[in-house]
Amino acid sequence: MLQYNDHIAIALSGGKDSLTLLHLLVKLEERFPRSDVTAISVDEGIDGYRDEALQLAKTACTTLGVKHLVVSYRELFGTTTDEIAQLSLGQTPCAYCGVLRRKAINKAAVLTGATKIATAHNLDDEVQTVLLNMLHGDPLRIARSGPVLTDPRGKFLPRIKPLCDIPEKEIVLYAYLTGLQFQTVECPHGHEALRNDIRSFLNQMEVKHPGTKFTLLRSAEKLRHQIGESILLSELRECKKCGDPTPHDLCEACIMLEAIVA
Ligand SMILES: [Zn+2]
Repeated sequence: MLQYNDHIAIALSGGKDSLTLLHLLVKLEERFPRSDVTAISVDEGIDGYRDEALQLAKTACTTLGVKHLVVSYRELFGTTTDEIAQLSLGQTPCAYCGVLRRKAINKAAVLTGATKIATAHNLDDEVQTVLLNMLHGDPLRIARSGPVLTDPRGKFLPRIKPLCDIPEKEIVLYAYLTGLQFQTVECPHGHEALRNDIRSFLNQMEVKHPGTKFTLLRSAEKLRHQIGESILLSELRECKKCGDPTPHDLCEACIMLEAIVA
């Protein structure tokens, strides 16, 4: 995932996962003089929720001596998640927020001169996404959501998920033992309903059949290997509006932004 001279942009929300990742990568980076770490936080515009997380992220970066860049939906897209939630659109606000966040992090990472983007998805997130893709009838998406995603044409920054095989419970344990101050409040816009059901199902399975989550992660790896990331990526074109990778004429974010503005 990492090279000795990487400049890593960490997507830092202020939650336990991203703060744990920040701590681990800063520790690792100290041993490699030519490497660098920058934290990126996104202000989605969620009243009474995001401010606390941004403050926690800022404090952690100051303590660790890490550069911290904050970008907002308002400045990048001219809207906020709170405003999107007010509209009657086809999907939940979380669906829009997720796509816009990915785009915001990409833009910010390019600004910092990073060579890679690291996100703090853990084992639980990863296997939930695998099942979610299956239940959405989009199994090929599994190939595009692996622990390391690189663009063979070198046009887009590689994305890595260093915590992808660490169970959420162990991250919580690490965060408590290290004394990390992280946000515990849930987003007021809630979560995707289907993901919540999958989370409960997987947790029940893990209790009854320990190892279920790891097995599912390995199954996804095998599928990914068979499908071949590079084939899928080579089918990606450039969005006609913003230039981001997309299998269509316009990327998901630009399609969503058009719907929001309209
Ligand atoms: Zn676009």
